[in-house]
Amino acid sequence: MKIHEYQAKQLLASYGIGSPEGYLAENAQEAYEAAVKLGGTCVVKAQIHSGGRGKAGGVKLVKSAQEAKEVSEKLLGSTLVTKQTGPEGKVVNKLFVTAAVDVEKEFYLSLTVDNDGAGLVIIASADGGTEIEEVAEKNPERIIKQPVSVMMGMKDYQIRAVADALGLPNELLKPFNAMMKNMYKLFMEKDCSLIEINPLVITGEGELCVLDAKVTFDDNAMFRHPDMALLRDIAEENPKEVEASKYDLNYIQLEGNIGCMVNGAGLAMATMDIIQSCGGRPANFLDVGGGATAEKVAGAFEILLSDSNVKAIMVNIFGGIMKCDIIAEGIVEAAKKLGVKVPLVVRLEGTNANLGKEILDKSGLDIISAGDIAEAARLSVARV
Ligand code: ADP
Ligand code: MG
Repeated sequence: MKIHEYQAKQLLASYGIGSPEGYLAENAQEAYEAAVKLGGTCVVKAQIHSGGRGKAGGVKLVKSAQEAKEVSEKLLGSTLVTKQTGPEGKVVNKLFVTAAVDVEKEFYLSLTVDNDGAGLVIIASADGGTEIEEVAEKNPERIIKQPVSVMMGMKDYQIRAVADALGLPNELLKPFNAMMKNMYKLFMEKDCSLIEINPLVITGEGELCVLDAKVTFDDNAMFRHPDMALLRDIAEENPKEVEASKYDLNYIQLEGNIGCMVNGAGLAMATMDIIQSCGGRPANFLDVGGGATAEKVAGAFEILLSDSNVKAIMVNIFGGIMKCDIIAEGIVEAAKKLGVKVPLVVRLEGTNANLGKEILDKSGLDIISAGDIAEAARLSVARV
């Protein structure tokens, strides 16, 4: 789960990592008032779940409260297309109005999960700021990586190694150490998957200062953090994926036109592969899971039916723990509600397959039966 910059900064502050004074603004008048509090000159920042805002025009230095208001009017409701949003961009609904900082030098600093190392890793660079992607691509040697064991914790010598590699001056070693320790504490206590500060800057006064922050939580651990779950901003998420999450479904929208309903992540991946190899393109990844109820299946099927990109649906179920009759009931329930206007190819195998087929036969739905997964894929691709 992602959160906004202003929320990440609040969270960091609660762990002793402060950042410049700033206020959330949801309309231009609020932005004006925030700018007045900040003395006129300030930075107006679009709050969207994406980086690269600066380059896309989403971070604006203004010289007066009036200018803050004008910039806010333009930004609010506009769509920002950044390197990370994809071509459809993200609509700006909120702004963060914050003090303008005199920047001497920008660093990149993050703490994230290192899958290969089975631990965490500090990633840092003395070439921080908006060009960090280019640095990683063209000068990977400029990116410092320091593994951190979650058994041992983050050690002073590891922090010192990063500080030295960044070339931090001696007087900043202590505050940098404190910052890293606090970041680690936050990461562990809140089950983060990423804490990223880019840029971390040295100001004209020679102090460390957090100018941008991103915190991402491990979705699988959200049940342990109801307070963090409150920070979720559904407006930032794909509406179909939000709908799917209500039913606890593993659903990811894709660009193709064959809607897939499958049980088991492995079978779902194989289904996407086989559709591709037959020359088609899946509209989604969907794993309804093992112990799904008919209601959950119906919810899943409704999501597929309501997707206007979907020109055919391929149901591919191998009943193990999941029973085929439950799937069939869910399909019929959703079909009754919304109607099926696209070809529906069904392959049922395994537990209660015959019962499932019987339910579908009796439903009066126009179903194209497939004997196996390859046939189901071929038939689906042929129909679109
Ligand atoms: P993004 O990473 O989405 O582009 P940032 O918050 O990092 O957004 O802002 C982009 C750049 O704008 C930063 O690298 C920094 O140079 C500048 N910037 C951001 N906030 C401030 C601020 N409060 N004062 C001065 N400059 C800022
Ligand atoms: Mg940034």
